[in-house]
Amino acid sequence: MHIVVCIKQVPDSAQIRVHPVTNTIMRQGVPTIINPYDLFALEEALRLKDKFGATVTVLTMGPPTAADSLRKTLTFGADRAVLLTDRYFAGSDTLATSYALSMALGKIAEEFGKPEIIFTGKQTIDGDTAQVGPGIAKRLGYNQLTYIARISEVDLDAATIRVERRAEGGVQDLVSSFPVLITMLEASNEMRRGTIENALGAARAEVVTWNAEAVGIEDLTKCGLRGSPTIVKKVFAPTARAEKAEIVEAEGGVDAKAAALVEAIFAKAPGIEGDLLELAGEHYV
Ligand SMILES: Cc1cc2nc3c(=O)[nH]c(=O)nc-3n(C[C@H](O)[C@H](O)[C@H](O)COP(=O)(O)OP(=O)(O)OC[C@H]3O[C@@H](n4cnc5c(N)ncnc54)[C@H](O)[C@@H]3O)c2cc1C
Repeated sequence: MHIVVCIKQVPDSAQIRVHPVTNTIMRQGVPTIINPYDLFALEEALRLKDKFGATVTVLTMGPPTAADSLRKTLTFGADRAVLLTDRYFAGSDTLATSYALSMALGKIAEEFGKPEIIFTGKQTIDGDTAQVGPGIAKRLGYNQLTYIARISEVDLDAATIRVERRAEGGVQDLVSSFPVLITMLEASNEMRRGTIENALGAARAEVVTWNAEAVGIEDLTKCGLRGSPTIVKKVFAPTARAEKAEIVEAEGGVDAKAAALVEAIFAKAPGIEGDLLELAGEHYV
């Protein structure tokens, strides 16, 4: 079985700065980390490797420095690291990102065997659109299982996987056939520690590096800012609200406390009561 994990190298969230003109995140000289959601995806892949002897390839699209994050995944036990890097990819939105990654996944299938499973994190901590995973699945014609909390069963003979999906209102028990793309939720497992042996191997390992041409991209207008219909108009930190939260004290049980809270809200925003009356009509006693 061959599994690919897509990881993104992201700025360490405490250090994010936005370019005043292009509104893109300034990545130069900013400490970077592996997108935390992707570590849960990597751990799931490594558990399937332990159980079924799968081969795990890790793929990232990013600047040349993203090779550092790839090497880190090798210290955890990944078998192969692939860096897709080209200045034509700069400023990619999710459409352009999923396009470039799907082309790299096509080349990975040619070179190393078609992956039965592709893992991504649910989302990144910088763009956090959760769109790249489903975009890749659509482009490659893979089944997709998103917001997955647990892998309950893999049947290699039947080429199926059973998972638990965390959804509003509860947990869904889903089964899909291969090939499938899975987006993993945070806290779905605990990331293992890297081993000395793997760390030594990672230091020596070659990171496979491809550019747009190497993965067969001919139409460069599908890449980077040119291939991105999404314009990030403005990125700004929301202004902190000056208003302090008000503590409403009330004697008695939950009902009394709830009633006191409603009264306090009505006192602060009298208009709300009228709106609710209108909405609730005959239900409001
Ligand atoms: C503040 C901000 C807002 C943005 N808003 C938008 C927007 O509204 N629409 C839009 O199209 N773009 C937006 N972008 C650009 C977007 O961040 C990039 O396109 C990015 O490369 C992919 O989107 P994402 O970070 O949201 O990834 P997500 O879709 O959240 O990522 C999901 C998963 O896909 C995989 N993945 C994502 N990027 C890569 C990569 N480069 N290499 C390998 N695997 C990857 C990872 O496993 C990740 O966990 C925004 C960027 C910023 C910084």
